[in-house]
Amino acid sequence: MKKLSFVIPVYNEEGNLPVLYEKLKAICDHFAQKYSFEILLVDDGSTDSSWQIIKELVSKDSRVRGFSFSRNFGFQMTLTAAYDHAQGDAIIGLDADLQDPPELIYEMIERWEQGFYIVYARRSSRNDGFVKDFTASLYYKLLHYVADVPIPQNVGDFRLIDKRVLQQVRLCRERARYLRGIVAWTGFKHTYVEFKRPERVAGVSGYSWLKLFKLAFDGVTAFSLFPLRIAAFVGVFVIFTGSLMFAYIAFDAFVHGARYPLFKWLVTVVYIFMGVQFLLMWLLGEYIGRIYDQQKNRPLYIIQESIGKGFEEK
Ligand code: UDP
Ligand code: MG
Repeated sequence: MKKLSFVIPVYNEEGNLPVLYEKLKAICDHFAQKYSFEILLVDDGSTDSSWQIIKELVSKDSRVRGFSFSRNFGFQMTLTAAYDHAQGDAIIGLDADLQDPPELIYEMIERWEQGFYIVYARRSSRNDGFVKDFTASLYYKLLHYVADVPIPQNVGDFRLIDKRVLQQVRLCRERARYLRGIVAWTGFKHTYVEFKRPERVAGVSGYSWLKLFKLAFDGVTAFSLFPLRIAAFVGVFVIFTGSLMFAYIAFDAFVHGARYPLFKWLVTVVYIFMGVQFLLMWLLGEYIGRIYDQQKNRPLYIIQESIGKGFEEK
């Protein structure tokens, strides 16, 4: 019998855990003949009674497992730890606040059974207020434009991944983590199910604007060397305009006999050399980018399926 894992980061979710558990239990019971289940709850240093509730759930349902962090490490690390310990053949990550509706999981499992390795839940609408919705959609567009690999838009961390995908994700140990990018980076055959993102049921969002900005920045820097390359554009622009200026005053001086004071010549030359500096900074950046890429130490390639003699599935 195949096993499905639910992995759930929990940070001050005492008001949501009992409801969430009931919903997940309904799914487990629905598929009881077909799959076995584990519900892995990871407490990210909650200051309310979340851990207490998790302990109670574990004692009453053997499918529930959990561990708690020594302090708050943040969502990305919490999900990473959950991924590290999940034992299922398919792993479904969802938020504890019921903003990732468990009802969608039926459809996700169906898609997985059809042979998709990754099933993303895509938000067809959000309900986080105009400013957050607007900046989010703008950010996804920007990221899509600059990232080395296509990172799906309007997709959060609510997704099902196959064990094979998980094995590769586990190999990516970079500290500046952007898991949805890492999952997209693996490139496995994927599909989407659509949903409307509801508002959180109880409690408050653990994501401040500062945390969101940090996540957004991690996303761009982890999957794109574009920010480093800005120096190249600036350098080319400065050298080009500087050369035009120089050509103009040189022409004026030598052909028309105009007399330019020394500082004007100097300013032009210094300006051009500023452009050269920018180009050298870009070159330096390319090396640093390569060092960064190397130290991330992601797998060099990923095999999705293999057939023929010697490639039998283990
Ligand atoms: N979360 C966490 N650590 C944190 C902040 C949040 O594990 O430092 C969990 C939280 O309990 C929830 C999920 O991550 O299950 C999403 O967090 P939240 O609802 O605050 O984010 P939002 O939905 O506002 O983006
Ligand atoms: Mg939420």
